[in-house]
Amino acid sequence: MFTVTPVRAFADNYIWVLRQDTGALAVDPGDAAPLIAYLQHNRLALQGILLTHHHADHTGGIAELLRLWPQATVYGPAGIPGVNEPVMDGSRFHWKGAQFEVMAVPGHTLDHLAYLAEGKLFCGDTLFGAGCGRVFEGTPAMMRDSLAKIAALPDTTRFFPAHEYTLSNLRFALAVEPDNEEILLRQTVDQKQRAMELPTLPTELGLEKTTNPFLRCHVDSVKKSAEAKAGHALADETEVFTVLREWKNHFA
Ligand SMILES: [Zn+2]
Repeated sequence: MFTVTPVRAFADNYIWVLRQDTGALAVDPGDAAPLIAYLQHNRLALQGILLTHHHADHTGGIAELLRLWPQATVYGPAGIPGVNEPVMDGSRFHWKGAQFEVMAVPGHTLDHLAYLAEGKLFCGDTLFGAGCGRVFEGTPAMMRDSLAKIAALPDTTRFFPAHEYTLSNLRFALAVEPDNEEILLRQTVDQKQRAMELPTLPTELGLEKTTNPFLRCHVDSVKKSAEAKAGHALADETEVFTVLREWKNHFA
């Protein structure tokens, strides 16, 4: 069993570090400096890097890390500079006895992957605490399908997103569902975490299902709220998702 620790980078990124014995894997090292400091302080050797997608705040540290740890295996979508072990949907690999399974979750980008191991999902910019990533390269329908794939995992699955966006996402969730007590409760808990400068992550699928509007497009109150925003009836969950995503893009 590996343990997982967040290393903060930039304003709100987390580089998740998987540790076992004296070895480590890092997920989406956008910045090498804080990760190198963490690894050296803890006398860890970087054995691998997991990349979810090509954005610079997830990949910017690779070259420098490979100079220090040239043996590291870099898993990720083919085409990202530095990837020496390209993976895709359904790929599997092992690290220290843990099996990693790769899921394609396009939408935020077309190349977006997530990594599942020991009930933990490293999901990059696809699912966030109480929210989801912006749809930059794919279509809303594609993103919704990716979230549906994630929602089919066991409720106890823990999620390790790449950004600390939970509190602002919860404000939006409350705009969509003002009467959802689970969201209010989560807001109280997560505000305390942030006041102590602690992460609100990882999160659990069961909690996301009750508080994340983007996983609740099938729920009547969410549909009604999206219809009120759109000003007309919405035919299916993809239409609800599309309205929510657009609404969130402009939500202050
Ligand atoms: Zn991104």
